Amino acid sequence: MKVYLIGAGPGDPKLITIKGAELIEQCPVVLYTGSLVPKEVIAWANKNAKVLDSAGMDLDEIINVMKEARDSDQDVARVHTGDPSIYGSIAEQIRKLEEENIEYEIIPGVSSFTAAAAALGKELTLPELSQTVIVTRAEGRTPMPEKEKLFMLAQHQATMVLFLSVLLIRKVVKELTPHYGGDCPVAIVQKATWPEQKIIQGTLSDIADKVKEAKIKATALIFIGHVLTSKDFADSRLYASEFTHGFREGEK
Ligand code: SAH
Repeated sequence: MKVYLIGAGPGDPKLITIKGAELIEQCPVVLYTGSLVPKEVIAWANKNAKVLDSAGMDLDEIINVMKEARDSDQDVARVHTGDPSIYGSIAEQIRKLEEENIEYEIIPGVSSFTAAAAALGKELTLPELSQTVIVTRAEGRTPMPEKEKLFMLAQHQATMVLFLSVLLIRKVVKELTPHYGGDCPVAIVQKATWPEQKIIQGTLSDIADKVKEAKIKATALIFIGHVLTSKDFADSRLYASEFTHGFREGEK
């Protein structure tokens, strides 16, 4: 018996891995994390499977479902949105599973932030402009670690992606503007890959008003950085004609 922690991807049911999809079809217990897991994905479960939405459950109730499955030797597909390693709350489940000696395996998924970058048609790492992506969130009810305050991370001026923060857009703008500048490009992607996907583009100066106008309050990501609009970045070394690497001899 095993618990499979599966990333369901960002919304488009075709963006789950084959491995994740097969496990959902095969597991006699399917426990999914509510409205952000696509209905189509859950519909693949066997008609005799026990399919449960964990949205109304607390941690102990979730673990109880897993313990019951263990007692009847049934595998569990625990389905999370995007990739489970990013704000997935899997660590607290894993800790309990380890206490119970229940085996688990994580099946990665397409995170909403890589799906949203695709929807924007962008690469987040451009040569000599930004080679780092900071994935973080603004401080709301969940406190940020002392050394990870937004204004501190902003000092790097690296490409930044914020989860769970669109309601705090004014605060984000206030903390980032001194470092990135008011003209720095910002993109908001709501419900990336869902039929109702919405993209708003602007700058740190005008994005907060645009978000308000578009009434975006949830299920959105904020992208900040010059990679969003830059056209004059350097070519990468990988495809440069004179560059030698493991798979190609460069021209002299
Ligand atoms: N593990 C998930 C994130 C879960 S936290 C992942 O890898 O994507 C939930 C937050 O993720 C939401 O508040 C929102 O900020 C973001 N999110 C999830 N799905 C999204 C989507 N399809 N489009 C935009 N943002 C999304």
